[in-house]
Amino acid sequence: MSTGYPIDLHTHSIASDGALTPTELIVRAAARGVRIQALSDHDTLLGVVEAVAEGERRGVRVIPATELNTESEWGDVHVLAYFVDPKDDALEVRLRWLRENRGRRLELMVEKLNGLGYAVSIDRVREIAQGGALGRPHLAQALFEAGHVPTYDRAFETLISKDSPAYVSRVGLAPLEAVALVREHGGVPSLAHPGTVEGLERLLPQLVRAGLVGIECYYPSHTPAFTAECLRLSVRYELVATGGSDFHGRGEHGADLGGVFVPPESVASLETHQARR
Ligand code: AMP
Ligand code: ZN
Ligand code: FE
Ligand code: FE
Repeated sequence: MSTGYPIDLHTHSIASDGALTPTELIVRAAARGVRIQALSDHDTLLGVVEAVAEGERRGVRVIPATELNTESEWGDVHVLAYFVDPKDDALEVRLRWLRENRGRRLELMVEKLNGLGYAVSIDRVREIAQGGALGRPHLAQALFEAGHVPTYDRAFETLISKDSPAYVSRVGLAPLEAVALVREHGGVPSLAHPGTVEGLERLLPQLVRAGLVGIECYYPSHTPAFTAECLRLSVRYELVATGGSDFHGRGEHGADLGGVFVPPESVASLETHQARR
């Protein structure tokens, strides 16, 4: 069944909270034999043009994408949007609003940290982000370099993950709104890392009714049993089984670019849905 070359439908660059520029990301992907890659930065398409250009030079087909992190009582619901258009101005207006909310959220987290005695500044966090969509990984980096935590991961574990003292919830889209937004703009939505959803069996039918097309079955932290469970759900709800490394360039999530098996049919099926739009 498996043919030939690595495909990766979930990756991040410095346009959001990844460590590599879009060019560096594609250079690395090409060196690893990846031939189809989605750049799926959080709430932004600003890295896509650069990635597509580098992909053309290196024989990597780059699919424009973004990952929308939502806010709800369903745990971490992230919606991947494939085949969205970086030139869609109306979509960019919505994405910019989400990025502005990211900035305000991190400002509030910095204030909380300062109140708890951890000296860290939003200006340093913004410097680390280098103009990319701000995220907690940038804050974790700032806490680490200021010596407040022994490792980057410990920043999440002790201070800024949900239920930690400096956590602030997101102002943004609810899961169904995210799926609807992607569909309104001609994109093809897939539910990212379904293992982080609380109440997946109850939420999934609602997402499907809102227009969900795919579910990320192939993902670094999935056990074979959970991948099988996701594949079962994909059959039951007629969803495309997607997958990717969620590579950010800091070793988190455990897989390098192209390091998670993704079947070529996955891309073909997403394209079929795009064509129907
Ligand atoms: P944000 O969008 O600002 O809420 O940040 C979410 C991002 O933080 C995710 O996409 C991951 O890259 C990263 N992240 C979330 N939880 C952890 C964790 N426990 N350890 C390391 N990175 C994490
Ligand atoms: Zn991320
Ligand atoms: Fe995610
Ligand atoms: Fe991601």
